[in-house]
Amino acid sequence: MMLIPDAEHDELRLSERPLIVCDIDEVVLEFITPFEAFLTHRGHELRATSFRLHGNVYSRTDGSKTPDDDVSQLLETFFESHDDWQTPVVEAADSLGRLSARADIIFLTAMPPRHRDVRRRLLSRHGFDYPMIATESPKGPAVLALHGDRPHPVVFIDDIFVNLQSVRTHVPQTLLVNLMANETFRALAPHPGDGVDIATDWAHAETLIKTHIGAPPD
Ligand SMILES: [Mg+2]
Repeated sequence: MMLIPDAEHDELRLSERPLIVCDIDEVVLEFITPFEAFLTHRGHELRATSFRLHGNVYSRTDGSKTPDDDVSQLLETFFESHDDWQTPVVEAADSLGRLSARADIIFLTAMPPRHRDVRRRLLSRHGFDYPMIATESPKGPAVLALHGDRPHPVVFIDDIFVNLQSVRTHVPQTLLVNLMANETFRALAPHPGDGVDIATDWAHAETLIKTHIGAPPD
């Protein structure tokens, strides 16, 4: 049923219930904090001066700015072994566990599909046993491919403005929830745009989602 370009994914089978499509980095797994630790381990540091990684990484040896190509390579190396570094976001597993009683949950991660197996194992180790799609394609068309014209409520959770607005364009009835674990970068993030609810943490996100899908607050 679902055709998502350039994606690798688990078996995707939706029930006749609401659908929650959930990002991973900075939403269910810490990303910035462990990437900072990884950079330190590699002799670099991340200086949080703007909402980006490239251009904000510096050598700890001589203070020089780390070239963009080197930052890209550091990210690639990080993702090759990210199961050694990334940890769950507080409350994410418990909130999703409660929501999964009321809705289907699918992870949609904007990572190169070649890292999918490592991520799958890491998620399952922490109790995130929901199907995952890994793709670098835009998220709006992916959510549309998943949900189509089904009449059920649909929710999308992500930390990135572009992803939220992509879903807003392609599946406009979606409840859009902006959630970002790292407080330093959250403070630097651009406003997620019109039509997006900003959640301060998972408890807040869970309340917004339950209201939207008509679930009791527990
Ligand atoms: Mg993310």
